[in-house]
Amino acid sequence: MNRVGLLGYPVAHSLSPAMHRAAFAAAGLDWRYQALEIRPGELEAAIDRLRAPDWRGANVTIPHKQAVLPLLDELSPSAAEVAAVNTVVKRGQQLVGHNTDAAGFLLDLQRQRALPHASPSPQGPSAAMVLGAGGAARAVAFGLAQVGWSLRLIARSQLHAAALGEAVQRRHPIEVELLPWDRASFESACDRCDLIVNATPIGMSPDGRSSPWPAGLPFPPGAFVYDLVYVPSETRLVRQARRAGLEAAAGGGMLLEQGAIAFELWSELRAPRAQMHAALEAALEVSHA
Ligand code: NAP
Repeated sequence: MNRVGLLGYPVAHSLSPAMHRAAFAAAGLDWRYQALEIRPGELEAAIDRLRAPDWRGANVTIPHKQAVLPLLDELSPSAAEVAAVNTVVKRGQQLVGHNTDAAGFLLDLQRQRALPHASPSPQGPSAAMVLGAGGAARAVAFGLAQVGWSLRLIARSQLHAAALGEAVQRRHPIEVELLPWDRASFESACDRCDLIVNATPIGMSPDGRSSPWPAGLPFPPGAFVYDLVYVPSETRLVRQARRAGLEAAAGGGMLLEQGAIAFELWSELRAPRAQMHAALEAALEVSHA
């Protein structure tokens, strides 16, 4: 039997096993998807085990997305650019690292808004506000930079934000503004802002009553609000934005798209998105219960 693993710590609450098992079943593949709790000191051995003949690859999640880079034989252009791997694919004896988060985010953004908001406004200078400077913010920032957005990074750690900004600008000729995490930054970043992306865990269950958006601050008119958090499936930030008349989405669609791309890399088959989506919805319902 072919096997695919999820390497992370912790992994018990991950929705990926449900989504990928549904995908394998729908595609008629007798494959097994296994969530494996791998602590930081165990990663090298876990990657080595993927070299056994029955393994097709793995997903890699917190805290290993960057630590895994030197353990692989090759990186795809996406993984090399973002400098993080969330999917490992075995090609012959070679383990190849990919990053499907950036493409998954962009694909879902396009799906949510049709094309205009997957790229900057044609009317002139506009920017995306990205909240956070961790792993997910990295994928989002590179994804947006690839399609020409300028970025306003609002983050607690200015060190992380500066490192991310520099890495993006080494590859893409876009403007990047770094702002500290305070109300004045949010206020100034609202000027000509078409897109707001929350890439922090604020608002994630069980902290569903929190929002990264400063209390009482009006949203920039017409902006699209994208919250990477997907549990709960409608976050407080998404509700606030919709109440203010804006279009908004939580991160379930990105989770689906990054998983669908990973499935296609492992199997070289078209991903059964409808079944993967249904499995995610069912798993989300269980995680709410
Ligand atoms: P991470 O690497 O730990 O980064 C988290 C970022 O959020 C860091 O910049 C952190 O700042 C910041 N942050 C955390 N709490 C904060 C607070 N109270 N105020 C201000 N900033 C705060 O985590 P990640 O992998 O980027 O994940 C972030 C979120 O995205 C999670 O909720 C995750 O589930 C979600 N996500 C969703 C998808 C999807 O497919 N939808 C994919 C990936 C991730 P410091 O550095 O100062 O701590």
